[in-house]
Amino acid sequence: MKIYNTMSKTKEEFVPLHEGQVRMYVCGPTVYNLIHIGNARPMIVFDTVRRYFEYKGYEVNFVSNFTDVDDKIIKKANEEGVSASEISERYIAECEKDMRDLNIEPATTHPQATQEIDGMIHMIQTLIDKGFAYVAADGTVYYRTRRFKEYGKLSHKNIDDLRSGGRELLVTGDDQKEDPLDFVLWKPKKEGEPYWESPWCDGRPGWHIECSVMSKRYLGDEIDIHAGGEDLVFPHHENEIAQSEAANGVPFARYWMHNAFLNINSHKMSKSAGNFFTVRDIDAQYDPQVLRYFMLSVHYRSPLNFSAELMESAKTSYERIVNCAANLKFLKDRAQGEVCTPQEQTLLEEADGFRAQFEAAMDDDFNTADAITAIFELVKWINSHVNKAEEAPTKAFLAALEQELLSLTGVCGLIIERDDGLQGDEEAYVQEKIAERAAAKKAKDFARADAIRAELLEKGIVLEDTREGVKWKKV
Ligand code: AMP
Ligand code: ZN
Repeated sequence: MKIYNTMSKTKEEFVPLHEGQVRMYVCGPTVYNLIHIGNARPMIVFDTVRRYFEYKGYEVNFVSNFTDVDDKIIKKANEEGVSASEISERYIAECEKDMRDLNIEPATTHPQATQEIDGMIHMIQTLIDKGFAYVAADGTVYYRTRRFKEYGKLSHKNIDDLRSGGRELLVTGDDQKEDPLDFVLWKPKKEGEPYWESPWCDGRPGWHIECSVMSKRYLGDEIDIHAGGEDLVFPHHENEIAQSEAANGVPFARYWMHNAFLNINSHKMSKSAGNFFTVRDIDAQYDPQVLRYFMLSVHYRSPLNFSAELMESAKTSYERIVNCAANLKFLKDRAQGEVCTPQEQTLLEEADGFRAQFEAAMDDDFNTADAITAIFELVKWINSHVNKAEEAPTKAFLAALEQELLSLTGVCGLIIERDDGLQGDEEAYVQEKIAERAAAKKAKDFARADAIRAELLEKGIVLEDTREGVKWKKV
């Protein structure tokens, strides 16, 4: 299994720190608003990475934080006249709803920065004790960047070429710093801001220290994978490395994974630029699974341009897979034969080739674009092998194909089962109506048959007369 490592700029064979286990940390959102679909890209991508590791038999410890203390949260709280925690709790709940809709598995742990302040104070103190940090006159604590000799190794920047970057540098007085490259670990409170006591001043942590601390607490000093969007490479991840490696004395993460941006008209989708759609906006128009499909239809390291046409095309493609699964279920529910015929056994071996193709794509740095192509080829193959009127497939064969399709789409986190058939009562009700309609037709009572169809349509259920019998779907 190969993973592209931002650190080495090459695809490397994945070797876990502990056999059979993966410890991964994904930087999560700052919670001050509904998430936009750009934020959803790393969520979907790294959830799929996690699912593939699990499919391969790894036990995955997956940690993703919520940044719940930040200037933007405080600003929003002040605008609304409520506390910062009210804002962050509200948007954590909203984000969790979006994640459920997108079928993103809850992380093993979703730590919140404000619950981890003690750990941050402890790590900052360690950095001060080791000479990697210093306290300015007003109690601000800075990281002494030049002291960390490998600074720049992730972003491949030369320290002497660097200008002062980073969000915090702009909001605190630069003049107190020994060097413009130094960044904030702890900053003093301002009027009306949430704060915590510390040995240096009442205040709050800088953004970067949060992730170093939460990763250490829930995954240990050394982890397998650290991930996030590519805008986090510098300064956020570079600073996390400087903090964690200086404090812990061991390499931080073995593999650094970064997704490319979701763009609109070739510009990064972002709140500040105002060119964004929230996940909620998209949900109003599409099944959230279409968005998930759209995100996975390109490789995670390729930029993805959002457009209505691409979403429509994702919808059509996704529905083809859903229809294939519905057709398999329909046929299976009516088929006989608990054992595959010898011919079917041979066909199943052929179908296994698509799984091999799928795995080869995923093993190559999680190439979901090619993996989805393999699913598509499987769908095409299934459609050409199960709809033969001359020899009805056995129930066992149809069930095996259904399982194959569900297994591969499941790794992508795509829900492809229509929820209509899942509700027992509804299924029974519709089947009863279908039987009634068939009886009416047989008795040449076409008015009654049409009335039943109309009655179902009122409930959003469409009947379709096919060669294999009457099918139904919800519209
Ligand atoms: P933020 O809330 O801005 O800290 O972002 C949360 C996560 O979303 C980070 O991993 C960002 O890199 C990622 N992200 C933000 N905007 C985009 C975008 N347009 N495309 C892809 N990833 C993004
Ligand atoms: Zn982070």
